Amino acid sequence: MTRSIALALLAALAACATPPPEAVATPVGIVRADDTATARWIAAALQRAAERLERLAPAVAPPRVEVWVVADPGEGDEGVVGRAKRGPWSARWTLHVDADSGWAMVGHELFHARYQEHLRGWPPALIEGLADRFGLSDDILGDCVRMDRLMALARVRVPSMALEYRRHDGTQAGVIGAFSTTVTEGPPPLSLERVGELSASELVGLDYPERLYAYGVGYAAAQAWLGDEGVDVLPATPPRWSELPLGTAEELARRAEAEFGPERVHRWAVARFAGEIVRILREDVPGAVSVDEALATIEFWLTVDTGPKQPLEGDADFRELLELLWPLIEGDGGAAAAP
Ligand SMILES: [Zn+2]
Repeated sequence: MTRSIALALLAALAACATPPPEAVATPVGIVRADDTATARWIAAALQRAAERLERLAPAVAPPRVEVWVVADPGEGDEGVVGRAKRGPWSARWTLHVDADSGWAMVGHELFHARYQEHLRGWPPALIEGLADRFGLSDDILGDCVRMDRLMALARVRVPSMALEYRRHDGTQAGVIGAFSTTVTEGPPPLSLERVGELSASELVGLDYPERLYAYGVGYAAAQAWLGDEGVDVLPATPPRWSELPLGTAEELARRAEAEFGPERVHRWAVARFAGEIVRILREDVPGAVSVDEALATIEFWLTVDTGPKQPLEGDADFRELLELLWPLIEGDGGAAAAP
């Protein structure tokens, strides 16, 4: 037991000791990744998130942050795609995100870094919901994470998906990332009351399905408390968890399920392939200078579950995703490397 903890600590220290090699400087902080294009992409997301949080009241001084884009932000914890850590001897925060979800999650982690002091003593699950509410972007990648939260509440079966691609000249083709994830059907794994009582360390220590559910409840709690309208003021004092207008778990599930129209699921599925699409376009269409030029070379189709194979050319969600991804696709030119 002690030995395994020691080994785990050593592994964590080893993982922390080596920052990713490529760095991009921003006014918010340095972003480090394995390649400059990824660092630039996440740097753009970090700056957008910082601008969003800058408008949020009460104003809280921006923390000193450094972002590391790493393969395993959860350091072995399944399903963890972001983590904010404060340095033990300094006020500097290190935000760990992965390349695929970093665009959306870096804002969530920045919210933690910025508001941790202000929110001391608030229900941890509600803080997670607030981090989603204020930290996630308004675009398709932020929507993808919001859908993940709703899926956990709805306890629906997540459909299988396949992305197919083919170059017009026939030299490259393939089916990429066909996969299926299942959220266990059946009764909720935790009661709503229990989620509200969880401490921060209990929340992080939950196993994967329970943690997913707790984050879903936290998101619903933030939504129920703040309403659907755009709010840029964080209330001064926390609500009592028992007074949040959450309703019952069954009502939460029904409301979440109502969000699962085919259009939202399609949007979610398109966003799920963000990382694969970047890789295909960078490897198979090198040198393209615009989204239009890339799409003139290669075609994509998406199949969700047992539905038809849908061409993505002309698809509004796909187009939105590509415009966001383009800085990552076009490569290293023009990057501002940090010292
Ligand atoms: Zn969080």
